[in-house]
Amino acid sequence: MTAATLLRDVFGFDGFRPGQEEIVEAVSLGQNTLAIMPTGGGKSLCFQLPALVRDGVTVVISPLIALMRDQVRGLREAGVEAGALTSGNTQEETDGVWQALEEGRLKLLYMAPERLAAGGVPQMLRRIGVSMIAVDEAHCVSQWGHDFRPDYLRIGELRRALDVPLAAFTATADAETQAEIVEKLFDGVPPVTFLRGFDRPNIHLAFAVKDQPRQQILSFAAARKGQSGIVYCGTRAKTETIAQALREAGHAACHYHGGMEAEDRRVVEGRFQQEDGLIVVATVAFGMGIDKPDIRWVAHADLPKSIESYYQEIGRAGRDGAPAETLTLFGPDDIRYRRQQIDEGLAPPERRMADHARLNALLGLCEALECRRKTLLGYFGEEAKSCGHCDLCDKPADVFDGTTPVRMALSAALRTGESYGSGHLIEILLGSDLDKIKQRGHDQLPTYGVGKEYSRREWQAIFRQMMGHDLLRPDPERHGGLRMTEKARPILRGEDVIQLRRDTIKAAKTGNKIKMLVSEDDAPLLSALKAKRRALAEAAGVPAYIIYNDSTLIEMAQKRPMSLDEMAKISGVGAKKLQSYGDAFLSVIVGEVAQLHPARRKMAGRSEGSVYDRLLEVQADLSRGEDGTGKPMTCSASLLAKVAQMRPRDMSTMERVLGAKYAERFGAAFLGVLSEAS
Ligand code: ADP
Ligand code: ZN
Repeated sequence: MTAATLLRDVFGFDGFRPGQEEIVEAVSLGQNTLAIMPTGGGKSLCFQLPALVRDGVTVVISPLIALMRDQVRGLREAGVEAGALTSGNTQEETDGVWQALEEGRLKLLYMAPERLAAGGVPQMLRRIGVSMIAVDEAHCVSQWGHDFRPDYLRIGELRRALDVPLAAFTATADAETQAEIVEKLFDGVPPVTFLRGFDRPNIHLAFAVKDQPRQQILSFAAARKGQSGIVYCGTRAKTETIAQALREAGHAACHYHGGMEAEDRRVVEGRFQQEDGLIVVATVAFGMGIDKPDIRWVAHADLPKSIESYYQEIGRAGRDGAPAETLTLFGPDDIRYRRQQIDEGLAPPERRMADHARLNALLGLCEALECRRKTLLGYFGEEAKSCGHCDLCDKPADVFDGTTPVRMALSAALRTGESYGSGHLIEILLGSDLDKIKQRGHDQLPTYGVGKEYSRREWQAIFRQMMGHDLLRPDPERHGGLRMTEKARPILRGEDVIQLRRDTIKAAKTGNKIKMLVSEDDAPLLSALKAKRRALAEAAGVPAYIIYNDSTLIEMAQKRPMSLDEMAKISGVGAKKLQSYGDAFLSVIVGEVAQLHPARRKMAGRSEGSVYDRLLEVQADLSRGEDGTGKPMTCSASLLAKVAQMRPRDMSTMERVLGAKYAERFGAAFLGVLSEAS
């Protein structure tokens, strides 16, 4: 079968996602390949599909047992022979895998890298006919990366020993990691390399300045009630209080952080994977190992650490390609906290500089004046047009020339020895008569009271944006006193101007309108389909998305297939799943489902199906012969199915298939149907 047919029949997808087709082709041809795709881009398909096209077994090396088991389960559900050898297996599972291998049935064998350390593995793999190695999360081979796995270094050796093609996949794009992968996995010989863009167009991006942050999170969640989401928090304590508040507001929510017992963490991970609509309020400890494709939203209750972390964290939403939303809250305290964290860290000075730069990039995104996505992708070196799918495209920023107030603020900071925080500087600018101003003689400064045309709140927004644009930085040596950076000098000297956003605080207060994944008309059907999915998932003890993912259900609710044939055309409904669940979901849409003969069911959604239906009609007309007086006669369903599949082209072949008696009655008419159909 061709890749396109397998894509449709086995995986149930109408087409490739951007970039997949070229990769699938190269991997299927047995070329050494390195594919860099963003999370959610659809990497797994790029080795799963070639594994089916190629002879022999494909070994998949993947670092996380939970993810391997999930993929194996998904593949089996789609009718693919796959198995895993991991330390998490029961003896029975392991025996099953070996049996399938011995019988030559297995197409994909997932293995944890630790397994490679055991003696005799290459011999074993050669004996079972391994014809390709696929390496997921290939950046784990990088000694300088965060996810280094020493056992990954054995993969290169394995490739040499087996002498089969290797396909490596990762979402980490930087040049050093790439070079390390080529060195360690491909002995320095560059493979065919694919670099797919970093855009995730289905994710809506939005930022808001903190203003009663807990309320902001609660109303964001309320507008998405019943959808799975993650709230990231900066501290462990906060995960608990926000989870509590969400529960009080009627959501299913749990907290998760690194300080919890391993067992408790596993329970939350398991529930999140399995349940539809759970909210996990977590620190960044919740991340590695989450492979839930139907996370509908991610909110940051606190500012992430850097632009990379931001991208990674929001990227957990919407991996199934269906719409997903994000909201990131930030405020001056976050900026101070993140700077302080870097300054007080133990990293060498160059590293700290780099960390400040990565934080600056994120702050630039917070304070962006135009399309967030353009700014974000720009950081990753990609050019983009305004996306139409972020808060700033939805509602352009209200900007003003901030040069004058920025110069006032800089001057206030400089004249007070760069030793004060924004609170004190704002009092000076407003001309306040507080004692602490007078005692220090700050009421004598030329900047005293020059900023009365702005309110205290407006000044807070100006200072926050100045920190965001890295014009002022808290200085750890002076207890957080704001110090002017080199970047601010041209503005102070009047050589440069700066645009600021008018108050971002007002924009933060959005309405409480419920966000829908589908139109109001289709929403009740979508809920009914989800209920059916939940029931089937619970009965089978698998996560809901293993049955069908959200985008598949959304498409069902919108297109409303009326028959199994139409159902087969929905993206995500492969042949095996059509047989297992087609009727159940169809009955939600149309009520009672007419029973099809099993021989006909197998042809649902294929051209043979409609040929079969025509044959049936023609046969009904002839059941008593041409003049309607003959002996009643009909072919069995499986005989008709055989005709539809084999498509005999002439009478003698038709006779061989039908037998002389039936051929005499129906042969000519059937040949007519078949010639119309071809
Ligand atoms: P990652 O690149 O992060 O490993 P996955 O392989 O897990 O991504 O794929 C993410 C999601 O996209 C999965 O739910 C998968 O079923 C879906 N997907 C992959 N390829 C396609 C496609 N061609 N059409 C529709 N959905 C796809
Ligand atoms: Zn945009």
